[in-house]
Amino acid sequence: MERSVYQWQMWVEDFGEAGQETLKSSSVMISRVGGVGSVVAYELAAAGVGTMVLAHGGNVKPSDLNRQLLMTQDGIGKPRIDSVRRRLLELNPRLNLVTLGENVNESNARGLVEQCDVIVDCAPLFSERFAMNEQSVSQRKPLVECAMYDLEAQITTIIPGQTPCLRCLFPETPPTWKRQFPVFGAVSGTVGCLGAMEAIKVLTGIGTPLLGRWLKMDLREMTFRTLQTKRRLDCARCGSIT
Ligand SMILES: [Zn+2]
Repeated sequence: MERSVYQWQMWVEDFGEAGQETLKSSSVMISRVGGVGSVVAYELAAAGVGTMVLAHGGNVKPSDLNRQLLMTQDGIGKPRIDSVRRRLLELNPRLNLVTLGENVNESNARGLVEQCDVIVDCAPLFSERFAMNEQSVSQRKPLVECAMYDLEAQITTIIPGQTPCLRCLFPETPPTWKRQFPVFGAVSGTVGCLGAMEAIKVLTGIGTPLLGRWLKMDLREMTFRTLQTKRRLDCARCGSIT
């Protein structure tokens, strides 16, 4: 049964059975399982990542349902993380899930990151993103950074000591950043699928992840461009590590 679930992806030549075994023994932490992170988690559950560590606070609201695809109408008013757990296990009961019903912050970030091989950051607030970046660098864990606003989305993959970290790209919170933002689920889902693919690539070594490259997508015009990024020698977080 388990083998047949993953049969079609094991036909990917440089992935194969060995790649599947690697995914099964891997752990991915996802910071927020909302518009972006729901899709990351669902794709990684489908792909057979053995363990996921998921952090997301609050109760399901009607306004979540246009994009937070692990939430359902009958979950309104109940903890989001409960919907997340239920939907993922419906798809893949073999998953090992570690769930936390609160968002990432400076005090819980370390323990969450200690349990994973790769982090996928899908949080909307820079305080949460910086907390993940801190732990990514100090624990030397790869970090896939997914973000979107309106019909634009962006993604890069950070390997501490090798690529720029989040603080190299954003030394401080951008002054224009807003907590509430316009979003279609198709936009957050697009960057979520790419984030899941980056995690699979980093874990199994297939393909070329977005290392030192920042993919920026404009879904209004359907234009995609990739910027090269550089480490900042004076970066307060990663400037001194090798
Ligand atoms: Zn840095």
